Formats: sequence, C-alpha cells, structure tokens
Amino acid sequence: AADKLKKISEDVWEIPTDYKPGMNVPGHIFLSDRLIEGLESGAIDQTANVATLPGIQRYSMAMPDVHIGYGFPIGGVAAFDTETGVISPGGVGFDINCGVRLLRSELMADDVKPHKVDLINALYEAVPSGLGSESKFRVNDAQLAEVFRTGARWAVENGYGVKADLEHCEENGEMKGADPAKVSKKARDRGRPQLGTLGSGNHFLEIQKVEKIYDEAVAKAFGLKEGQVTVMIHCGSRGAGHQICTDYVKTMEQASRKYGIKLYDRQLACAPLSSPEAKDYFAAMAAGANYAWANRQIISHWVREAFSKYYKRDVRMDLVYDVAHNVAKFEEHEVDGVKKALCVHRKGATRAFAPGRSEVPVAYRDVGQPVIIPGSMGSASYVLAGTQRGMELTFGSTCHGAGRVMSRSAALKDIRGNEVKRQLLERGIVVKAPKDAAIAEEAPEVYKEIDEVIAVVDGLGISKKVARLVPIAVAKG
Ligand code: 5GP
Ligand code: MN
Ligand code: MN
Repeated sequence: AADKLKKISEDVWEIPTDYKPGMNVPGHIFLSDRLIEGLESGAIDQTANVATLPGIQRYSMAMPDVHIGYGFPIGGVAAFDTETGVISPGGVGFDINCGVRLLRSELMADDVKPHKVDLINALYEAVPSGLGSESKFRVNDAQLAEVFRTGARWAVENGYGVKADLEHCEENGEMKGADPAKVSKKARDRGRPQLGTLGSGNHFLEIQKVEKIYDEAVAKAFGLKEGQVTVMIHCGSRGAGHQICTDYVKTMEQASRKYGIKLYDRQLACAPLSSPEAKDYFAAMAAGANYAWANRQIISHWVREAFSKYYKRDVRMDLVYDVAHNVAKFEEHEVDGVKKALCVHRKGATRAFAPGRSEVPVAYRDVGQPVIIPGSMGSASYVLAGTQRGMELTFGSTCHGAGRVMSRSAALKDIRGNEVKRQLLERGIVVKAPKDAAIAEEAPEVYKEIDEVIAVVDGLGISKKVARLVPIAVAKG
C-alpha cells in the first residue's frame, strides 16, 4: 500500500484524495524512508478513512509513531471545523487523556544509581499498578464528581501536590466544560476505586537520567541539565475513561445514523459538533480527562513522598510539564490565512504549541511548550519544545512515543520477559513488573526506534529536541 503514497517532501508522504472514495482532504503521513518500510497498510487506510469525515481541515495526519488503532490510527491528528465538522470518540481513544508527565529532581544520577533497586521498589510499593488495580484510598460519589469537574486541582486542594504543579499541566490539569452528569453510573463505579493507580501494560513510572541536552537555553527554561535525575509518569483515566468511551461509541453510532453521516468504518462513529450528542460526549470526555490529570497528580505526590522518605529529607521534585496524548480540544488555528476555531483530535499525538501561545505556561512562553515523548524501557525518551512550524504544519502537534511495531500477542509468543529483564539489567536498567509477561509485551523491540521517530519530528521542525533521557529503573503496570 505504501507505493500508493506520494512523497511530497522530505519525510512527508501524501495519501491522494483518490486513494479511496469519499476523501474530503488528502492524508499526510510523516515518516522517514526507513520507517515507511514498516508502515502497516491498515494504518494508511485508517488515515484515509479519517479524511472522509465531514468538516475535516487541510489533511488527515499521522505522526511517525503511527500504527493501527480503533477507527483512527494511533499517532493520528485531525482537526474539524466547529460548524461543519464532527467529534469522534475513536479520534480520542479509550484511555481518555492518557498522558505523560515529567518531574525534575534535585538529585544527580550518581546519587541515585547505587539506590536504584530500593528506589524503584519504593515507587512500586507507593503506587498501585496492574490491571484493575485498586487504590489506597476511596472517593465517594460527591468527591468523584469534583475530580471530574476540576481534575488536578482537586488533588492539590486535597493535599496531593502544590499549586505550581497546576500551572505546569496542559489545560492547567483542569479541562473546562466537564460535566459529571454526562458520565454513566458504570463509568463512575469503575472510576471510584481506581483513582491513584497506574494501570497495566504500557503505563509506567521511570527513573531517568538526563543524558544529553540539545538546546541549552530551552533546557534551562525547563529546569533540565545533564546528569540530573527525572521521573516520568505515564498513565491515564483507567476504567472511568474506558467506560466513558465505550458508552459514547454507542451514542455516536446512533448519532451517525441520525445525522446521515456516511461511515467508511463503523469505528469512526461521530456526531456533528453542533449536536447535543457531541456536546454530551465532550462534557464526559473532559470529565475523563480531568480524572486522568487528578490521577497523575496523586501519583506524583506519592513519588515525591517515596523519594523523600528514602533519602530522609525533603527531596525537591518539580513538575516540568504534563501532556495529554489522547484528547479532543477546541483551539484556534490559522487555516488558509484565516484564524478559525477548530476541534483538534489528537489520538496518540501530543500538543506542541509554539512560543507565544497563551496556552503555554508563562515560565515557558518564550521558548515553547514542553513536549514529553517516552521511548521504551530500554531506550531513550525525549523532551522537545513546540514550534511555529508545528502550528503551521500539524495544528501544533507532534508524536507521542515510538509507536508499536509488534502486537501484544506476537510479543508474548516470541519474547521471554525474564530474558528481557536480564538483558536490561546487564545494561544497568532495573525493571520491576507484576509478572514477566508484562515485560515481554513491553520489551524495547516491540516499539519503533525512538531516535529515528524523534529525528523525523525534529527534522520537520514540528517540535525541537531539547533533552534526551535514559532509563535507570522502570516500574511497569
Ligand atoms: P501508549 O500511550 O501508546 O501506550 O504509549 C506511548 C509510548 O510510550 C509508546 O509508543 C512507547 O514508545 C513508550 N513506552 C512504552 N513503555 C515504555 C516504558 O516502559 N518506558 C518508556 N520510557 N517509554 C515507554
Ligand atoms: Mn493509556
Ligand atoms: Mn499513553
């Protein structure tokens, strides 16, 4: 299928509108010549399918970490006109506001390395993880409604973190327009016991070392320097978000029929942005997003506690930034020279706003939004900054990770978790997981090469490399 793509410039591949019937705009896939060889034809088809949706602007896009997802590809970015366009749960994903945050510590790698086993055990103990894991505390329905409404702020107001944390979250960790009344009882029941849990599989806590700085000035603004220890937290909205997505996929299937939207794939179910169904979904999705921000905030607090307890002093760990990589948002962008309000879907994609945008925290406004991109438990991860080029090319978006190249089932068949663990340990990386199978599913080789993926987004200029982080110890969900 890749031969049907037209290379229009370095690392930009176009899916022409005659690739399949009904495409309103072309597709743009951002990949290097080397990465395109591994591109699944299903991911091209999905990118093309998204282009058939009403009101889509400019291009249906796929970042270099693209792979097959539910309806929309993972790594997909699609923006819709607020009057003629749609919103689709498939364009957000099941783990609403799955995202990453990065804490920068005052510790240096040399201080931490001798204690890495103890420290990762402490983190593993401090944060419940694994499929369906339950939290160390319970919220009642009224508290849960507050979590849905106010996100990370609820956590901070209840003693989990400090005010400055909120300034360093996308949306300040509190997405406006959330309405707990639009969240089903089933979603609330799943959400209540899981607040303050990591989840399973791909989610992780990672102790890292800043190995290399590419841009001294921007790194300084982000508070990063070589040799420093950081902690990366990757998790989302747990069962609550999953249930919200499940509920609204059904609503949207009916809505698509009701409003006469032709679906080339049932998983693209959506509703016109002006419809009550769309408004309900957005209000519920925002609630799910806020749950995820509260979740990452609570977990951060436990991470700080664990470090301080271990070192028997107050170890300072400031939040660099927290990004969502599964979300739909209303943003202003320029289309053909005109400023327009758009609903931007980022599904396995990260917002990467340029310097000057009012959404970027004051502390970073001159250098651009921090972008946090995990690689794998055995490779580097990156911090980048948003750029003006990204605003122009990708509605201020970039990739969200390396992206899978091997399915979970294939990994379980081919890879032995204990072997991966042993090899990583030889390289000095400690991995802690509930079972070896969890390590096999997430082995470094199931992901694309992160350095190559980052080279694409950096080369295109849709976000700029700032720092390279390498793992010291990883706790997997
Ligand atoms: P996703 O949100 O799609 O599940 O994962 C985002 C990205 O996280 C993946 O594409 C992969 O590159 C990265 N990733 C998965 N597991 C780990 C890990 O244990 N450590 C780090 N640093 N990155 C990971
Ligand atoms: Mn997730
Ligand atoms: Mn994620």
